[in-house]
Amino acid sequence: MTRTVYVNGDYLPETEAKVSIFDRGFLMADGVYEVTSVLEGKLIDFDGHAKRLARSLNELEMTCPIPEEELLAMHRELVARNGIDQGMIYLQVTRGNPGDRSFVFPDASLPGTIVAFTQNIPNLADAPAAKTGFRVITIPDLRWSRVDIKTVQLLYPSMGKMAAKKAGVDDSWFTDEAGRVTEGTSNNAYIVKGNRIITRALGNDILHGITRAAVLRFAAEAQYEIEERPFTPEEAQGADEAFSTAASIFVMPVVEVDGKPVGTGKPGPVAVRLREIYLDEMRKAAI
Ligand code: PLP
Repeated sequence: MTRTVYVNGDYLPETEAKVSIFDRGFLMADGVYEVTSVLEGKLIDFDGHAKRLARSLNELEMTCPIPEEELLAMHRELVARNGIDQGMIYLQVTRGNPGDRSFVFPDASLPGTIVAFTQNIPNLADAPAAKTGFRVITIPDLRWSRVDIKTVQLLYPSMGKMAAKKAGVDDSWFTDEAGRVTEGTSNNAYIVKGNRIITRALGNDILHGITRAAVLRFAAEAQYEIEERPFTPEEAQGADEAFSTAASIFVMPVVEVDGKPVGTGKPGPVAVRLREIYLDEMRKAAI
């Protein structure tokens, strides 16, 4: 089916959507993005994604080409036009098309480019992977030092996914120079020890996950202790459980790290419970 996509104010068939070769998103990876999940045709945590988009844009001295109310209306319009029940909406804003290539930012008055499209994923909530869990390897975190900004520079995370694929597993977790886990290629990373959930604290070295914020809130409400500190792959291997979170996977159990099972080697009860709570609560709050 040909999707209807959004480009700079227009809804177009995907085959007719175009962006200039001079767009700074294309030439310089000078752009930011958000991915919002859709369940039962409704947006999950849209407000969180809109706020993080505003923060990413602000950190890069960019402005959003359209106001936030229009962002919401546009997301809903894409869901409706494409008949999405479960899936994702990808939104990208770049610094626009200055008509040539230059390292210098164009004048701030140049309008940015804004595009969005849907991804139809009928079994998003019921993903088979959530029943078996992810197996991960660890690789050095070679990304730039401001990964808290959600830029479209995804070459290294993409290489991390390929390293995982070549190793026959599901994902890579990155490690910093001290050998401690930062996060996954496209998700935040956690371990569980008894009643404690351990995850790296927010900083410039991880993306401030919208799912992370919600899951930690629900976990605290469910009387788990939260400890925000780094952990090593070895500590993960010796933990009771591990999991990852992202808008695309919600709460995903992690059952193996660098070839060694975590806990029983099966999805653990805390991850399974947090996934259930997250899906229940977010469905209720979906808009
Ligand atoms: N960390 C990285 C590097 C990501 O790319 C993502 C999502 O794409 C996340 C964490 C999770 O963020 P969120 O929960 O907002 O999807």
